[in-house]
Amino acid sequence: MTCCIVYPPAEFVSAGLTIQAIFANWLGSETECFIKYHIKRSVITLFLHSLLPFGYILGLILFGHIDIGKIQLIYRSPLWLTLIVLTIAGPIYILYKIWKWSKNNWSMHPIVQNLAVYADDNTNWMSIASEINIEYRRIDKIVIDTNSITRIIITDNWIVKVVPYKLYIARQNDTALIVIKSDTHAMSHTARGEVQFINIEVKPTRIGATAFVIRINTFGFKDLQDKVQHPIIILQDVTFHKTLLDRFIDIFKEQTLENPLYETTQDLEHCIGCMQVRSNVKLNKRCGNITERPGPDECTMCHCRPMWCIECMAKWFASRQDENTPETWLSSKCTCPVCRAKFCLLDVCPVQTRHQ
Ligand SMILES: [Zn+2]
Ligand SMILES: [Zn+2]
Ligand SMILES: [Zn+2]
Repeated sequence: MTCCIVYPPAEFVSAGLTIQAIFANWLGSETECFIKYHIKRSVITLFLHSLLPFGYILGLILFGHIDIGKIQLIYRSPLWLTLIVLTIAGPIYILYKIWKWSKNNWSMHPIVQNLAVYADDNTNWMSIASEINIEYRRIDKIVIDTNSITRIIITDNWIVKVVPYKLYIARQNDTALIVIKSDTHAMSHTARGEVQFINIEVKPTRIGATAFVIRINTFGFKDLQDKVQHPIIILQDVTFHKTLLDRFIDIFKEQTLENPLYETTQDLEHCIGCMQVRSNVKLNKRCGNITERPGPDECTMCHCRPMWCIECMAKWFASRQDENTPETWLSSKCTCPVCRAKFCLLDVCPVQTRHQ
């Protein structure tokens, strides 16, 4: 139960059982008044979380895990008594803290403190807040839900990370974005499925501003890069697939390199796709039966000499597939760019030149 309040699962979210949904009236509209909304949301979240230990003990007593006889014992045990006093003192301390923050139109609240960092001699935190409020209302902002309690918002000039008790804020023009880590996770429900995430450090140079880390799916990288004002720095030892095509090319290479080599004595010319590297693949039918009259869905023999590099062949293959069903690409077919012979992944063979 405690977990469900702190980390609401999807079922809770869709049933409207989140702090945001329950206190919607008091919180007001996030779109209208983004900063005010999150000040209120953070204090109510903090207060409710502080009540959880007390609620937990109360639950134990009320729902029979501890019977009346034992309650007597509990009252006499100094340890239990201390625990109960602490669970009550916690929320009281938090209430006091919230009261202190709220004085002077919330001027001491951590969110306001983070905004105040960006105020100059002739502006105050409220002008920064209204700037963010206005940008948040625009439809072209990027909103990324990292999990049920963390959200990243990128507006024209600001990067905001929403966490339960506060907001991290960075202004784009004095912030460096650095990809510091990537990690890949297998996803069981798709055949060769995997998801890749990157951690990006958001490092404001403004004195007093705090650095923070945002975590996104790698396929969101391009959108993010298009939205922010400066190039995102990628640390040298961090590698990841920026697009679906990037990932497909890697898998395509990996798979086709397992196919048997095609040996030739011809001198190979540069790949006609990129003109950068020497041709290194040959379409050589190996799948199914090799018959004179192949069926309509069967691969056919390609008699073209090796003219492509593996990278260009992968791109060509991907370009002929249905964009909406990338999970079927690897098992699909394609046609030779020159003679239109049908081929599948099994027929793409790495070339080895033999000198006579
Ligand atoms: Zn090429
Ligand atoms: Zn061909
Ligand atoms: Zn084939």
